[in-house]
Amino acid sequence: MNTKKLPHIVIVGAGFGGMEVARRLAKSPVQITLIDRHNYHLFQPLLYQVAIAGLLPSQIAYPLRTIFRKQKNLTFQMGEVTSIDFNSRYVKLEGSVIAYDTLVLAVGGQTNFFGMNSVEQNGLQIKDIESAVSTRNHLLSMFERASREADAEKRRALLTFVIVGGGPTGVETAGALAELISHVMVKDYPEMSLTDARVLLIEATEHLITAYPDELRKATRDLLRRKNVEVLTNTKLASYNGQQMTLGDDRQIPAHTLIWTAGVKAAEVVDHLGVQQAGSGRVRVESTLQLPQHPEVFIVGDAAYLENGDGKPLPMLSTVALQQGKITAQNIQRILKGQSPKPFHYKDPGLLATIGRNAAVARIWGISFSGFIAWVIWVFLHIYRLIGFRNRVLVLVNWAWDYIFYENQVRLITKE
Ligand SMILES: Cc1cc2nc3c(=O)[nH]c(=O)nc-3n(C[C@H](O)[C@H](O)[C@H](O)COP(=O)(O)OP(=O)(O)OC[C@H]3O[C@@H](n4cnc5c(N)ncnc54)[C@H](O)[C@@H]3O)c2cc1C
Repeated sequence: MNTKKLPHIVIVGAGFGGMEVARRLAKSPVQITLIDRHNYHLFQPLLYQVAIAGLLPSQIAYPLRTIFRKQKNLTFQMGEVTSIDFNSRYVKLEGSVIAYDTLVLAVGGQTNFFGMNSVEQNGLQIKDIESAVSTRNHLLSMFERASREADAEKRRALLTFVIVGGGPTGVETAGALAELISHVMVKDYPEMSLTDARVLLIEATEHLITAYPDELRKATRDLLRRKNVEVLTNTKLASYNGQQMTLGDDRQIPAHTLIWTAGVKAAEVVDHLGVQQAGSGRVRVESTLQLPQHPEVFIVGDAAYLENGDGKPLPMLSTVALQQGKITAQNIQRILKGQSPKPFHYKDPGLLATIGRNAAVARIWGISFSGFIAWVIWVFLHIYRLIGFRNRVLVLVNWAWDYIFYENQVRLITKE
């Protein structure tokens, strides 16, 4: 019998990066402990659909114990990692410590409010299941409150929905919210004129979806305009008190809803690790994704700071996290065989964002296109990337139903 102890790989975070590492080490002679504060993997790119009452949380999340049921070299542990001792090589959870030979930190990110306390306290965000469900409850409640509001000014404020941040999440949320109003809420509230309802998308810089080429930025603006989204670029938010937002030029707009999608920073735990952090609090790593001075520690995904060939930081995207997960698994295998690790190079698979029904913008293999074809690609790519056959079928049926009947089926206001 072989009694040699297998190397212990501890992976913290079961998002895109951490899951990829775990799966790719399935056949390696290692013992893996995967830790996450949740017992599920969450497909964040579709979170906004939970917020706009299009999908249920269970349709975009999948239990980790089910995903890894058949992986014999992996144990899952639910828990929040609070600190790490890099010298003694252990991670600390509430009530326990776990020693490692190799550590992979894949803890992702959190919303960055850039110190705007009034927005953090009074605004909404779409970052996890809880915040997406809160946003859904809030949005739907606004229609209920507006339906019994006699005062026209107050009703207008209840029906003014502001989204801050013109990146893909802001654009997708604005388009979907405008459609929720024009396709669904008009039927649910026949007694109320929804011509009062406004969706505003605010962006501090000159352009929406800055990473996209010019023609797609323009197409995005046109598509949003057609869906009655008011786009304000070069516009900064100064503060928000829950009922009124103040812009940088002192303009005030009454609005009971503000969804902040304008920033992401590394997950909180990395602030307590005593490591060198760069922009957005991300941890500076070597090109091999190892922590300087600690080659037995790898950082992947949103939490890692690495510059692309052009000197810009790699974007906080699932595609980056997945590719980094893949190379990290390969590097762990290489080190175990006595080989040196390889540097990470990001292969950009293209850009894709939807702006509601029949509308999306895409850049694939260097070709930019928008409209129906881009939307069909978006739909099928997201179905394909979802985890679990059941979720793929449910989301497809859900979207087909909504598409045919102009519905958002999850219009439930629930207690939180
Ligand atoms: C609303 C939204 C829309 C998005 N849309 C897109 C898109 O269209 N395309 C795209 O490519 N990307 C998109 N992204 C970005 C993408 O989701 C992230 O880049 C990706 O999830 C990063 O992967 P990760 O593995 O680094 O972290 P994550 O996938 O965030 O996983 C991190 C994991 O770590 C766990 N964790 C964190 N801290 C601890 C701790 N202390 N202890 C234990 N566990 C911990 C978390 O619970 C989580 O499961 C979107 C993100 C959001 C929020």
